[in-house]
Amino acid sequence: MRSLFDSSATDLGLLLAGEPRFRIEQVWHGLYRELALPEEMTTLPRPLRERLATAMPLALALDTESVGDGGATVKWLWSLADGNAVETVLMHYPRRSTVCVSTQAGCAMGCGFCATGQAGFERNLTTGEIVEQVFRAGRAAKASGRRLGNVVFMGMGEPMANYDRMWAAVERLHDDLGLSARHLTVSTVGIIPGINRLAAEQLPVNLAVSLHAANDDLRNDLVPINRRYPLGDLVDACARYLAAKGRRLSFEWALIDAVNDRPSDAAELAALAKPLAAHVNLIPLNPTPGYPTRGTAAAGVRDFRRWLIDRGVNATVRQNRGTAIDAACGQLRATATKLSAS
Ligand code: SAH
Ligand code: SF4
Repeated sequence: MRSLFDSSATDLGLLLAGEPRFRIEQVWHGLYRELALPEEMTTLPRPLRERLATAMPLALALDTESVGDGGATVKWLWSLADGNAVETVLMHYPRRSTVCVSTQAGCAMGCGFCATGQAGFERNLTTGEIVEQVFRAGRAAKASGRRLGNVVFMGMGEPMANYDRMWAAVERLHDDLGLSARHLTVSTVGIIPGINRLAAEQLPVNLAVSLHAANDDLRNDLVPINRRYPLGDLVDACARYLAAKGRRLSFEWALIDAVNDRPSDAAELAALAKPLAAHVNLIPLNPTPGYPTRGTAAAGVRDFRRWLIDRGVNATVRQNRGTAIDAACGQLRATATKLSAS
């Protein structure tokens, strides 16, 4: 049995055999344009609604919902059919809402500062499990009178390590949910073959690269995959992406106290970012159980940003959304596991 969002229009057609042909379009439209569940599609006969709901169940069961920042951040921890858990974060901004989705249960990349990396890899999410996160967030946004405008692939997991399913989800979000490519952002730890594939796709999505260090010694330490895909090659891949797509490139930089927040770090980062006109997103590190080092304090964050700007690099400080509800990458699951273990 395929989940609702793992079902294609062809699967739906098979299920609707014997029904008038317009039903397929009606259900598809209800799902993707109205964000309605089959049981809510009152234009369908009741027995059909029930048949759809049974034959194509949802893939994500709500485990925990946490609300932070006075209602501006909502985080869901979902249980999957096989017992794995993933999370999704919805952030409301004045003009539109953004959802941060997971692409894997766990992650095999082993970045020591990341709660997801600390927990190890479980499995790839299916396309439907990724799309459903956006659907559920879109419904929540709609229910609070807002519109979901942006999707960032920055939750648990490495999108490029689950490329085919991730990309099928991007296409579904674009073609069926109607989100424009410039409102979709794929974040990678720096998997070069993935960046190259992205550059060859038709849809020009935004690319974010989690850099965190601008010399190989430090980056090998913080982001172990740098040994396989070192900075020089990574920067070349970013330049090719830029040339192919003309989209804004951004570098993510988690500011870690006394590790990557010195003037020399800013100088190295500026030297990489400036020729690519890359935008730098600074975010103070959220300490995690496995990496208790503190994030840079507010004054240090301001200084670091100033050093970049003085060197002609665009930099913004990402609001540390949802810290109180553990809304940093993989942290809600870490907390839930800790709680259930104690
Ligand atoms: N695997 C992809 C996308 C998921 S991680 C990637 O690494 O880009 C999303 C972002 O959260 C990355 O920029 C990652 O470096 C950052 N991140 C992970 N753990 C963090 C922490 N404890 N504090 C702040 N940012 C963190
Ligand atoms: Fe994986 Fe990204 Fe976490 Fe690194 S930062 S372990 S790549 S999820």
